[in-house]
Amino acid sequence: MIHELDAAHALDNHFEPCAPRPEDYLLHFSDGACLARVTHVGGSDADAGDSGEVFELPRAADYRRRPARVTYLFSLGELRFFLVLDERVGAPEGFSYESVSWLRRAEPQHLLFAAATAAQLDRWYRANRFCGRCGHRTQLAPKSREIVCPSCAQIVYPKICPGVICAVIDRTDDPADDRIVLTRYAGRTTALWALVAGFTEIGEPLEDTVRREVMEEVGLRVRNLRFYKSQPWGFTDTLLAGFWCEVDGDPAIRVDRSELKEARWFRRDEVPLERTGDRTSLTGEMIERFRTMGRAAWE
Ligand SMILES: [Zn+2]
Repeated sequence: MIHELDAAHALDNHFEPCAPRPEDYLLHFSDGACLARVTHVGGSDADAGDSGEVFELPRAADYRRRPARVTYLFSLGELRFFLVLDERVGAPEGFSYESVSWLRRAEPQHLLFAAATAAQLDRWYRANRFCGRCGHRTQLAPKSREIVCPSCAQIVYPKICPGVICAVIDRTDDPADDRIVLTRYAGRTTALWALVAGFTEIGEPLEDTVRREVMEEVGLRVRNLRFYKSQPWGFTDTLLAGFWCEVDGDPAIRVDRSELKEARWFRRDEVPLERTGDRTSLTGEMIERFRTMGRAAWE
């Protein structure tokens, strides 16, 4: 998955106030899109994704004019990442604004993780330039990743929204007949089949989010919830928790048409192969795990 990086790119998110060196990454976002340089190298290149595209993020030395406001973000191994807080910058030669979601098709994974996580922090910095309690202009805390209000002393921490991914299984007498619920947005030909998913509501434990989302989206009761893995998903400010669960009682799916979704049961040999190359998402990993491992995926 996107956050499972090799040891050379291990995340260190301890906040350490410092200035960028010329070789450090210095990211800038405009309307949520990230300055990047995308190169098409062809699908057979080992460094490229299935789309055959690789991308690079700008380094401090790439900017002709040094941006005025910069903050340190995090490190991946020896690589240090900073964020430009200025509204506008002169884009370095060859770089343009690319949607972070679009970059999911490109490689390398560690820069995709960096871009998605930096985008999450960029949204947080921009959304908290003024205090939500008293309206005063906020400041960045000098030694920690906090936004503080000098007037009323409110402290704002980065926004992380919990959510769940639910693999709903119909466990049958013959393991080969076990089925999984996949859903997708109807009417969008580009939508991939996915698992039931949703955000946690106020006052709700994750297990209840699973039960509620499965009921809301596909009208099924579930039991035997088993936590699988969690995944930070900066694209939507989310921390995802993946659960396996079994349908309890009537397996007839009732789709929530308000979300314009379609949903159906798939046996292992029916699961679409469209997620086979998905190395990024928890959803993709869980679908592939069911397809290739069957019952051993969750038991
Ligand atoms: Zn305030």
